[in-house]
Amino acid sequence: MPIEISDKTIKHEFIERVSQLSGQDIFMCFQCGTCGGGCPMSGQMETLPRRIMRMAQLGMEEDVTNSGTSWTCASCHTCTANCPRGVDLAKVMEAVRLLTLRKNINMIDPSGLSAEMVRDLPQIALVSCFRKLTS
Ligand code: SF4
Ligand code: SF4
Repeated sequence: MPIEISDKTIKHEFIERVSQLSGQDIFMCFQCGTCGGGCPMSGQMETLPRRIMRMAQLGMEEDVTNSGTSWTCASCHTCTANCPRGVDLAKVMEAVRLLTLRKNINMIDPSGLSAEMVRDLPQIALVSCFRKLTS
């Protein structure tokens, strides 16, 4: 499906902030799709990383942040290791997450977890989950 783009949807500030936070030149990406091919979480993503990169290049902030892809990303760095253009996509995903968290939006409510879940889930998983999903 083609990406629909208009002048109104281009957010240059979003492009700059993703680039600054990730330290990556997102325009190095040429949408080869290698990242999605090796991504262990791609089957759970509605929007594949290649498309996220293209939308980020186009400054489509809402589409990128609403896609859920950055939250599904497991930060495994497989894409980073495989990218033929040297793009650290894991850092781009982290930057997209940070831009949401910095708006004081939490992706999980710790108080909503039941006592049984807190007791039974691995503590290291809970801590890393809170670090990733809360502002
Ligand atoms: S592997 Fe690299 S160049 Fe290819 S689509 Fe992914 S980020 Fe872009
Ligand atoms: S870092 Fe994220 S996007 Fe990259 S391969 Fe791992 S899960 Fe997929």
